[in-house]
Amino acid sequence: QAKAAGRNNVSFFDPAMEARVSARAELETDLRRALVNKEFELHYQPLASIGGELSGVEALVRWRHPQRGMVSPAEFIPVAEETNMILRLGCWVLIEACGLLARWAGDERTAALDMSVNVSAVQFHRPDFVEQVMAVLKQTGARPDRLRLELTESLLLNDVESAIQKMLRLRELGVRFAVDDFGTGYSSLSYLHRLPLSQLKIDRSFIWDALKEGHGAAIVRMIVGLGKTLGMSILAEGVETPEQLSFVMAEGCHYYQGYLYSKPLPESQLADFLHR
Ligand code: C2E
Ligand code: MG
Ligand code: MG
Ligand code: MG
Repeated sequence: QAKAAGRNNVSFFDPAMEARVSARAELETDLRRALVNKEFELHYQPLASIGGELSGVEALVRWRHPQRGMVSPAEFIPVAEETNMILRLGCWVLIEACGLLARWAGDERTAALDMSVNVSAVQFHRPDFVEQVMAVLKQTGARPDRLRLELTESLLLNDVESAIQKMLRLRELGVRFAVDDFGTGYSSLSYLHRLPLSQLKIDRSFIWDALKEGHGAAIVRMIVGLGKTLGMSILAEGVETPEQLSFVMAEGCHYYQGYLYSKPLPESQLADFLHR
């Protein structure tokens, strides 16, 4: 007994855990400051048709931390979500991305490109989410029918009826929806078909597994079949090699993104990419 309690005490004062807790608290403080000091920027990853033609970009947020340099969204988005800071950050991302979309409209080389923006569950489930998107579209002058919002499966599992209503209201304006990282969450096949989704993005882990031993290829084939049956366009994420591209092409994917085509680019480099 005493021994077990002693062990618990030790783990309670575990210095590694203490370090994690204070790192997390520091990240939170830094994030708060970052919002005020405008330390965020957007990078844009080109999206391609399977034949290699540019079809649009995905906006990806970057945090230029004054001491740490670039911090990955994989690290700070979860903290921003837990603290509701994602509401302000997400709103900023939307304004920024729609601002670029509006500027594209004036140039025939960019007018037909799509802008994909990631939306977190915390943002989407706000009662005024639809109004917020409408306000940003109006404020920036961006064309709604060039905007695509990326939602995750787990987000769509919650409160399905209200999710459908929100999506339909935006859909009426022309805004489209993609399901992001498909296959990694808890998808429910029973209502996937009820959601007004226009695109299914296959998570990169499946693309990477597809050319390895095992059932990876069969899983990709199944996801493509499912998406097509439901009338969605299929995008393969994380395509890094010509072999992966040949594979997703053979499986009938319509679009792809990944380092093979282009890494996410800061706006200045995106301009060079678009005009070359
Ligand atoms: P995601 O939406 O699935 O975005 C794709 C991620 O894959 C990006 O990571 C991108 O840089 C990376 N990627 C693309 N192609 C390749 C490739 O060929 N190889 C490899 N190894 N990686 C590739 P990133 O930018 O680190 O973003 C991570 C995640 O953070 C995103 O995943 C998204 O879920 C989230 N995120 C990023 N920006 C935002 C945002 O503005 N709002 C919200 N709510 N989430 C965001
Ligand atoms: Mg995404
Ligand atoms: Mg994704
Ligand atoms: Mg992903």
